Amino acid sequence: MFRINDNFTKLPASYLFSEVARRVKAYAEAHPGVEIIRMGIGDVTRPLCPAVIEALHSAVDDEGRAENFHGYGPEQGYAFLSGKISEYDYKSRGIDIEPDEIFISDGAKSDTGNIGDILSTANRVAVTDPVYPVYVDTNVMAGRAGSLGEDGRWSNIEYLPCTAENSFVPALPVGNPDVIYLCYPNNPTGTTLTRSQLKVWVDYCREHGVLLLFDAAYEAYIREADVPHSIYEIEGAKEVAIEFRSYSKTAGFTGIRLGYTVVPKALKGLDSNGDKVALNPLWRRRQTTKFNGASYLTQRGAEALYTPEGQRQMKESVDYYLENAAMLRAGLAEAGYEVVGGINSPYIWLKTPGTMTSWEFFDYLLDRYHIVGTPGSGFGPAGEGYFRLTAFNTHENTRRCVERLSGK
Ligand SMILES: *Cc1c(COP(=O)(O)O)cnc(C)c1O
Repeated sequence: MFRINDNFTKLPASYLFSEVARRVKAYAEAHPGVEIIRMGIGDVTRPLCPAVIEALHSAVDDEGRAENFHGYGPEQGYAFLSGKISEYDYKSRGIDIEPDEIFISDGAKSDTGNIGDILSTANRVAVTDPVYPVYVDTNVMAGRAGSLGEDGRWSNIEYLPCTAENSFVPALPVGNPDVIYLCYPNNPTGTTLTRSQLKVWVDYCREHGVLLLFDAAYEAYIREADVPHSIYEIEGAKEVAIEFRSYSKTAGFTGIRLGYTVVPKALKGLDSNGDKVALNPLWRRRQTTKFNGASYLTQRGAEALYTPEGQRQMKESVDYYLENAAMLRAGLAEAGYEVVGGINSPYIWLKTPGTMTSWEFFDYLLDRYHIVGTPGSGFGPAGEGYFRLTAFNTHENTRRCVERLSGK
């Protein structure tokens, strides 16, 4: 009989958000009439901006006319969009990324998960801890993770803790990894690395022949000058880094799906003969074989973001969330919590009081204040004792959340 991929059976049930939903439902049923505020949401809540809606409508009309109809498009994305990305997201910041180094896709989750297709399963991986679970789980599926220990760590993955003890700045790895995942601004901690802190990582990767997988899904939230918007702002990064971007959190595309990945032509890895091979053609081959392109409609929608109105409207939405984040951060600090994040990020990461575990704090917050967040332990062993609140809500709900927490 045929065999399955055993690696899938090694994955523990993904229990974080289903357990959150289960506990909230049970609480709501036991306490009818109590108004629960949900601050655990990892999805945007504001609608698409008018510039995008207008472009989407017009693209729909294109598809209804024979002379403007678009069927299969280029797998790596339409030139009308990759040209704008190259110009607005890179060249305007002094970074020379050409359209043929940009691969448009249905989102950063797919790309961060699929990138392993072009990498040897023998590579050793390092991740920051806590971490976006996709990086770890997709390496488990590929057979790169080893076995899961009692401590919640995979034997073949190096975990780089980010906690209050190191001010959420990961130390360089000690286990000689081949591939490192970094996500900045970070999900879940909401923290950032400065230019000089990121340079340490690029230099390390250059010196040791390590591939840096850089997730910049929250780039649009950066407001501080010393925080790079792209890993390619760091000299030499084009030789070591792949960058993932998404329109999900920046422009509300979580439902309609669009992102892109930059694979610079200068980036090379070793084949089994020890010869250097460029990754750009490998990823192109992977995408053209396994992916048939993001839809014409969504790409036209994203194109509209690269206009003065589109840029302004996108910033307006991100600013709205950042106001919530600032409110949360200030309110929690005033209420005596240790908090980070929320400055260049929609996420607030707080230390649970005393010796409370993440799940104990979840129950405490729900029971006492009727507020729902996300237990930090769900993002990795070093997330234990921490808790995530998000800015993806209305000003009103955020204000009420802060009032409840500060006892006003
Ligand atoms: C939300 C998120 C993404 C974006 O995923 P999409 O598939 O583009 O919606 C990528 N990375 C991180 C860390 C995220 O939180």
